Amino acid sequence: YEAKRDRTGVEVYEATRDENTPDRLGLLADLRRALDAGEVELHYQPKVGFDGVVAGLEALVRWVHPERGRVPPDEFIAIAETSGLMPRLTEYVLETALAQVSRWRSDGLTVPVAVNVSPRDVHAPGFAGAVAGRLARHGVPAGALQLEITEHVLLEDPHRAADTLAALAGHGVKMSLDDFGTGYSSLVHLRRLPVSELKIDRSFVARLAVDAEDAEIVRCTVDLAHSLGLLVVAEGVEDDETWERLRDLGCDAVQGWLVAAAMPPDETTAWLRARDGVPHSLERARPRPQ
Ligand code: C2E
Ligand code: MG
Ligand code: MG
Ligand code: MG
Repeated sequence: YEAKRDRTGVEVYEATRDENTPDRLGLLADLRRALDAGEVELHYQPKVGFDGVVAGLEALVRWVHPERGRVPPDEFIAIAETSGLMPRLTEYVLETALAQVSRWRSDGLTVPVAVNVSPRDVHAPGFAGAVAGRLARHGVPAGALQLEITEHVLLEDPHRAADTLAALAGHGVKMSLDDFGTGYSSLVHLRRLPVSELKIDRSFVARLAVDAEDAEIVRCTVDLAHSLGLLVVAEGVEDDETWERLRDLGCDAVQGWLVAAAMPPDETTAWLRARDGVPHSLERARPRPQ
């Protein structure tokens, strides 16, 4: 393990990138088996506008290891990324999410679902076409799928990533820039990416109500995103005060335990039904790049 410091100066311990520790190899083998056995589940967390409109759901992967119990996604996704298992995991998540979207649609719940994809996925040859093929097979319109990407897609090969994202956008898939503020994005890249939504990272949202600097960062991010015609979603909203501040800053939607944590599919269905009616997606017209 190596020690790192987060923004608040607190020490956090992260597994090192060493791919060959027995622990990692064991977990990797178990994850591969769990995927084959269909033991990995998706839970769904709503994105909700300030008027209560459900803008969409985010699919979040959940894995309960038979001996270790719940393994946090951050942990096994890092392992999948460095081991070559990521395409398999993403394929599994996309298939599971699209099957669920299709079921919800046939029950009259036309809620869009967002799937997190890693930079590895975006750089894999044929990714855009494969996504389009899956949509067609499930009979799900492209507008009902959103892909959450991070600024890290631009680190390796920005041009290639831009091509893939443009192809996805061409198919009608919506894209969202996740964890905004934690990466190394340049504003030039942000302007060129065909994303329609920006998600402000939880680390800026958490102390918004008590930290003037964080509030200023959020304010600037909202204004920047809006000037580019992007929807802004705040992650990790846990209390009313933060919710109110975000509303006053002009943020479009929130996600967080205040509204709902990620729920298993059946609970999500009940949650959607209790909201009575068909969810709408928020739209914001994006100005054309000059
Ligand atoms: P993310 O995409 O930024 O997801 C948001 C994380 O914040 C989720 O953690 C969610 O459960 C958590 N969260 C939501 N509301 C609150 C809140 O009010 N307070 C707090 N403290 N946390 C909140 P989770 O599910 O552990 O996922 C962690 C990360 O793992 C995700 O961050 C995403 O990067 C990754 N991930 C999850 N599922 C997938 C997947 O299917 N594929 C890929 N590639 N990555 C995934
Ligand atoms: Mg996400
Ligand atoms: Mg996020
Ligand atoms: Mg995050």
